[in-house]
Amino acid sequence: MDIGDFVKLELENTTYSGTVMPSLSEDTVVIKMKSGYNVGLDKKKIKNIEILESGDKPKYGLPPLNLEKNPKLKNISILSTGGTVASRVDYKTGAVHPAFTADDLIRAVPELMDVANIKGKVILNILSENMLPKYWAMTAEAIKEEIENGAEGIVIAHGTDTMHYTASALSFMVNSEVPIILVGAQRSSDRPSSDAALNIISAVKAATEPIKGVYVLMHGETGDTVCHLHEGTKVRKLHSSRRDAFKSVNETPIAEINPFTKKVTYLRDVKSQDKSKIKEIVLNTNLEEKVALIKVYPGIDSEILKFYVDKGYKGIILEGTGLGHTPETFFEGIDYANENNVLVAMTTQTINGRVNMNVYSNGRELQAKGVIPCEDMLSEVAFVKLMHLLGNYEFKEAKELMSKNIAGEINESINLEC
Ligand code: GLU
Repeated sequence: MDIGDFVKLELENTTYSGTVMPSLSEDTVVIKMKSGYNVGLDKKKIKNIEILESGDKPKYGLPPLNLEKNPKLKNISILSTGGTVASRVDYKTGAVHPAFTADDLIRAVPELMDVANIKGKVILNILSENMLPKYWAMTAEAIKEEIENGAEGIVIAHGTDTMHYTASALSFMVNSEVPIILVGAQRSSDRPSSDAALNIISAVKAATEPIKGVYVLMHGETGDTVCHLHEGTKVRKLHSSRRDAFKSVNETPIAEINPFTKKVTYLRDVKSQDKSKIKEIVLNTNLEEKVALIKVYPGIDSEILKFYVDKGYKGIILEGTGLGHTPETFFEGIDYANENNVLVAMTTQTINGRVNMNVYSNGRELQAKGVIPCEDMLSEVAFVKLMHLLGNYEFKEAKELMSKNIAGEINESINLEC
């Protein structure tokens, strides 16, 4: 049997009929049943297979569109890494494919032709929970190649689960004059409520703006009215399913984009680009991967920290309680990390607000033990930043830079206490 075939599969006590779908595991057969539900079956448990109808196989290689470049429009490269936004559903087989050859994209979202000259490239095809630090570096390299080949804006199609980690990583790794916009979707393009097309159109529009830096673009509210452009180091996925899941934290979004009129309204100051340096790009992709992110909780034992130190970890981000605290049960572990030159820095699990380790004696004691306060930095951003700093600087310098703003990750000007 092959993808697209309509089959009857007999197991010990049950029989399933449906269309064979692609499966992520070699050991499992996935079929779409007539009810519309998919079921995954362990190959070893299938006693008999009957092919009731040989189906259409997924088709590739539609004739090229041969579109001419519009000299009035900017050249934007869309790099696809996977996730819901980067998928096209084959309605016959239910199979999901990465859709980001330029032609696929324009066929799926023809309005893009009015916004920019589009080039599409698939660089990865993964769910973003499977992102790895080495893929952040690979994405940065792909961005460099596109910019050196004339891209004036970059859009990265990405799964939403870890899109804010990748946005952070690229913010620290890439120094360029070109806007880099990460975009995702909460609903796939086969669903009537899909946000994919409007997010992609708005992301491409944002990539044509004369700004520089790394940003995330997603729906700004649950309806199809407005998309928000967020700074890459100030954004977090704050809802598991809503279309406006991404919010700027401790900051306002950079801009609102109307996906229909394509009007861009800036909500705060933005880094404008120097057009004369548009092809210049410097990467710094070194990362220390032995960094961990630990959530603090009542009664957390010092053993946890000792475990990481003994395993050779070089840096720890704590997501502390309130203004940046840990219970006293954790102090011994912090001393142990300090004695072993493991850099420990503090963020807050309240998400909003800023760490202030001068208010309570607990915070002061932690600082005396060498814990670095991370101001209003999001813990995921602090985690990526520490990997970046320990990958590129000596311990002492990394420690100093941890509480200094490098890529917009610390909002120094706003008093966030009220
Ligand atoms: N969990 C997957 C991911 O983050 C798919 C969902 C999505 O694209 O948001 O890649």
